[in-house]
Amino acid sequence: MLRGDLSDEALRRYVEERVMTTTVEKAVAWGRSNSLWPLSFGLACCAIEQMHVVASRVDIARFGFEAFRASPRQADLIIIAGRVSIKMAPVIRRLWDQMLEPKWAISMGACCSSMGVFNNYALVPSDKFMPIDVHVPGCPPRPEALAHGILKLRDKIQGHPPDGWRERYEAVGTEELLPETDMDSAAINVFQPGDTAGA
Ligand code: SF4
Repeated sequence: MLRGDLSDEALRRYVEERVMTTTVEKAVAWGRSNSLWPLSFGLACCAIEQMHVVASRVDIARFGFEAFRASPRQADLIIIAGRVSIKMAPVIRRLWDQMLEPKWAISMGACCSSMGVFNNYALVPSDKFMPIDVHVPGCPPRPEALAHGILKLRDKIQGHPPDGWRERYEAVGTEELLPETDMDSAAINVFQPGDTAGA
């Protein structure tokens, strides 16, 4: 169609502006990551902030995430928002097991990530009984923080999760790399003798 009409640089620019190539995997990941259906589920005060993300100020409908489902069989994202008691953990695990693959989980707030201010025998962190993809810190995290966490999850589903603090601190996995240390010494201290930084 274009033969003779355009050539060289003009033809190259015309094609660049109109043709996109990709793989099936990338196209599917793009579709999945932009149409997450969260489960209607909340446990405590964090859930109030969670509800706010569908309201006008944050409005996650902009990203295709607003279709909260009433059944785990129709959801592919669970946002664990609030304290998880040991009694409630098997119930959440059952909901998670009822969700169809592929599925993802966000742990929202200090309580379900680390038991937060209620750090006692009755509570359990969510990643002790199910896999968590993204932790959103805070007590409570603001709705904007949850939206940020969902966008991080979107990056992860698309196959390029940001390294975040691992990149900044040159960490591998969940471990920070300490400088070369004399392994024959009696102990490896974060604060070396004479260092008063933590005092
Ligand atoms: S992290 Fe804070 S706001 Fe969220 S459930 Fe725990 S106490 Fe409530």
